[in-house]
Amino acid sequence: MRAAECVVVGGGPAGLAAARTAARHGVRVTLVDDNAELGGQYYRQLPAAFPGTVEARPVREQAEGRRLMDEVRSLGVEVMAGSVAWGIFDQRTVAVATQDETRRIVADTVVLAPGAYDRPVPFPGWTLPGVLTAGGAQNLMKGYRVLPGRRVLVVGSGPLLLVVAHYLLEGGARVVALCEASPMRNLWRYAHRLLPHLNFVQQGRRYRQELIEARVPILTGHVILRATGTTEVTGAAVARCDADWSPIPGSELMLEADAVVVGYGLVSSLELSRLAGCEHRWDQAQGGWVPVRDRDMQSTVPGLFIVGDGAGVAGAAVALEEGHLAGLGVAQRLGRLVGRDHSAEANRARGRLLHLQGFRRVMDEIFRFGPGIYSLADEQTTLCRCEEVTVGEALVAMREGGRHVNEVKAWTRVGMGRCQGRMCGPALAHLVARETGRPVTESGVFTPRPPAKPVTLAALASEG
Ligand SMILES: Cc1cc2nc3c(=O)[nH]c(=O)nc-3n(C[C@H](O)[C@H](O)[C@H](O)COP(=O)(O)OP(=O)(O)OC[C@H]3O[C@@H](n4cnc5c(N)ncnc54)[C@H](O)[C@@H]3O)c2cc1C
Repeated sequence: MRAAECVVVGGGPAGLAAARTAARHGVRVTLVDDNAELGGQYYRQLPAAFPGTVEARPVREQAEGRRLMDEVRSLGVEVMAGSVAWGIFDQRTVAVATQDETRRIVADTVVLAPGAYDRPVPFPGWTLPGVLTAGGAQNLMKGYRVLPGRRVLVVGSGPLLLVVAHYLLEGGARVVALCEASPMRNLWRYAHRLLPHLNFVQQGRRYRQELIEARVPILTGHVILRATGTTEVTGAAVARCDADWSPIPGSELMLEADAVVVGYGLVSSLELSRLAGCEHRWDQAQGGWVPVRDRDMQSTVPGLFIVGDGAGVAGAAVALEEGHLAGLGVAQRLGRLVGRDHSAEANRARGRLLHLQGFRRVMDEIFRFGPGIYSLADEQTTLCRCEEVTVGEALVAMREGGRHVNEVKAWTRVGMGRCQGRMCGPALAHLVARETGRPVTESGVFTPRPPAKPVTLAALASEG
């Protein structure tokens, strides 16, 4: 057991910004991240052992991330990379494990910046080799310069699809088609709200133009129906969908591909905020739970701040600004930044954040999540990949009276595996809602239990 003034969990844009701001105001910060190198998703770095070839040259955001990491280290932040925060006890005691050791840090303040993960959507064929998530494909290409395939179909919704397609084309892959679930109609309605965010709009237009020049078919208002193949993916069936993302019968189209990248949005990582006892609320536009926070990013647990995609998916620019605000909040709480000094800096940050959130709100409206996507799975489709539970088995539990995700879990073992329900939890909640005819918010969430992420027995045993 040791003490710390501030523990930041997550070394992506949000966590790095929080650590930098707090450290600049004299706070002693410990920054924990489970990757070997800091950076999170947006700043994901190339492995240190990579050769200095042209292919392995860092892209713009990797270079930007490197500068931020160097600054954080130069401010004296204690960096615990390759370490997992696997539990939070008594609201602000953080349990951190390396490969062979675990320690508990009693913190005066905690900043959670754990990011998000791909929203898992079960459909027939989703477990075939060659079917992967948009985030997974990005990690392969950005972090390892590896293409997921040569002829790649990209399906899903949201701006990340354009980023993935850009990396695929740049890496020399053929993008068979990009299927966007949103209808993308009447976009002129948003023109006045997008005008203040021309830099983001232009970036999106550049990516879209690349697709057009590469003659990639862009099918808007389309969803995947199933992936095909026996030992590996050979293609997929897609179909037109309604505003709810439910497929429209009779509009099926077959496409051949050797990889299918699926990205129906991201969901916040809430394991630690739930373990800490923070209050959460349902965000209709994002189609997921988010922690309740005040305007300084403080959760309902005093001294515990939550920032970045882990508090509602909003992208790297918002993550940086929220991290900065939380860093100011930490400094204020510890008495390093008082009165007017804090308000002046915090007000400026809140103004910038408000501006950025305007863009995010438009994105949430254009790419509004459609729960109809959860109607794709049939009874034979695997729901829980860790415990190999099918949709049909979960349905039996519901028909026997299971009306809450935890009841279905106790009955079938769904959500009890290595990922602790991250892959099946959201889909199961929608399945329960459909089967019971109640809103998804009443399906409940899996009860959080430590370890929030896998840790070795050696690490746990080291606690004695
Ligand atoms: C897989 C994936 C790939 C993405 N790729 C891109 C992209 O290429 N371009 C783009 O614009 N946006 C991308 N995004 C969106 C991106 O998440 C955000 O724009 C941005 O990175 C959010 O910053 P953040 O700091 O909130 O979270 P992240 O950048 O996700 O950082 C969170 C960090 O916390 C760590 N962490 C989480 N839980 C724990 C724990 N318990 N213990 C220790 N460490 C923990 C994570 O491993 C990660 O390093 C991607 C998202 C995902 C999920």
